[in-house]
Amino acid sequence: MDERKKDLLKHLPKIDELLLALEKKGAFSQNGRDYLVAASRAVVEELREAILASPGNMTEMPRLDDVAGKVEERLTAMHRFRLRKVVNATGVVLHTNLGRSPLCGDALERLMEVAGSYSNLEYDLEKGERGLRYSHVRELLCLLSGAEEALVVNNNAAAVLLVLDTLARGREAIVSRGELVEIGGEFRIPDIMEKSGAILREVGTTNRTRQGDYERAVSERTGLIMKVHTSNFRIVGFTEEVSLEALVSLGKAYGIPVMDDLGSGCMIDLASYGLGREPTVRSVMNSGVDVATISGDKLLGGPQAGIILGKKEIMADVMRNPLNRALRIDKLTLAALEGTLVQYLNPQNAVRAIRTLHSLTEPLPVTAKRAKRLAAVLRRAGIEGLEITLKKGFSAVGGGALPMQEIETMLVAMRYDGLSSVRLEERLRCLDVPVIARIDGGEVLLDVRTVDDGEFPLIRDGMKIIAGRSFEHAATLLTS
Ligand SMILES: *Cc1c(COP(=O)(O)O)cnc(C)c1O
Repeated sequence: MDERKKDLLKHLPKIDELLLALEKKGAFSQNGRDYLVAASRAVVEELREAILASPGNMTEMPRLDDVAGKVEERLTAMHRFRLRKVVNATGVVLHTNLGRSPLCGDALERLMEVAGSYSNLEYDLEKGERGLRYSHVRELLCLLSGAEEALVVNNNAAAVLLVLDTLARGREAIVSRGELVEIGGEFRIPDIMEKSGAILREVGTTNRTRQGDYERAVSERTGLIMKVHTSNFRIVGFTEEVSLEALVSLGKAYGIPVMDDLGSGCMIDLASYGLGREPTVRSVMNSGVDVATISGDKLLGGPQAGIILGKKEIMADVMRNPLNRALRIDKLTLAALEGTLVQYLNPQNAVRAIRTLHSLTEPLPVTAKRAKRLAAVLRRAGIEGLEITLKKGFSAVGGGALPMQEIETMLVAMRYDGLSSVRLEERLRCLDVPVIARIDGGEVLLDVRTVDDGEFPLIRDGMKIIAGRSFEHAATLLTS
């Protein structure tokens, strides 16, 4: 090792010295000693590595005060929340990676009230004794869906697991090969079935499954006939599937329960808003199925949850299953779910109040008008080199619902001098309030269908910051 390296290493700040410097800076008021020590060690270690790697870049040891500043910066970063609000300008309404459904105002209010205080979560106020946590949403769910009984768990995957474990553990669950879907996050229906201890009995082929296929598979080993809503893909062309009604009659004939894993959980008729036909929860329950499972945060527009609806007898078994305890819903989710469900007592109100439904059903002229407004807001920011145009395009439902549905939209397309579209998209994503956008060739596209008017200033301010930074960057390049 050369002498200079050795010399630099010898002068690395001592942790005690750093702590003293940090104390003078007042860092102890924000952070415990242990974390200051850990951050100090990490920063000194980085310095050591830097010296060993390329001593040429360092002629002398940085001042103690500067190193302490680095430690402080590190801890300040720790204080910043990592789970943050983002602006979803992708136009994908149910974006699983961006948290699926934003909650409506009432759901948020319920959440705040219940979360910040004690509640009657499992307490029957009339009887003054222990109650059931599901009781708070049970009546609403039964009323809205027509189900006899309702139960909520952590998410729909948990709901499927719980139902299968209850009805088909060690028995066969008959399911069409065309419905063995992957839900996302590499969560596959066959894998959940296996975990539940149900024996998967595949029938039919990928594109065609007939009633006879189900019928031939029925035996004394059969525990369940299962239908899975193929929510995130479509097989088109030469296809055939057996209707839920036909499966229900088959189940009745052989005394086998029939389950529909519906997923999307649509409570209103979307076709009347010009969207494709997605089975409503009520129509599924009307078909006579014994049990159905739906997601809380897809088309329902509420919090992550799994809703199980079904016949009284079967539901009693599902509720008694010890697994239910492990998959149980928490009080925050329940509060938000209740706040969401009440909106549906007036479906028109639900479409207004629930952002997911609002975004999906916003008529194109309204979206186009809002796109114009965003374009105007951005133009008025007076950012030199920023070119804004409006373009026709399509939004997507996402989140495993209406996979073929393209919703017409108006996009705000941005080009910015000196930053490629790839760079601009990246800068937008790295803002304090990240803006998630799409790229199309040389342009960054913002789809206002998933952007609230109240978020327009965030995009404008974000662009100002990006413009300011690239200006500074250009200036330093010029002077150096
Ligand atoms: C989305 C979906 C699930 C999983 O629901 P989560 O709430 O994400 O766990 C299961 N089945 C179907 C058919 C789905 O669409």
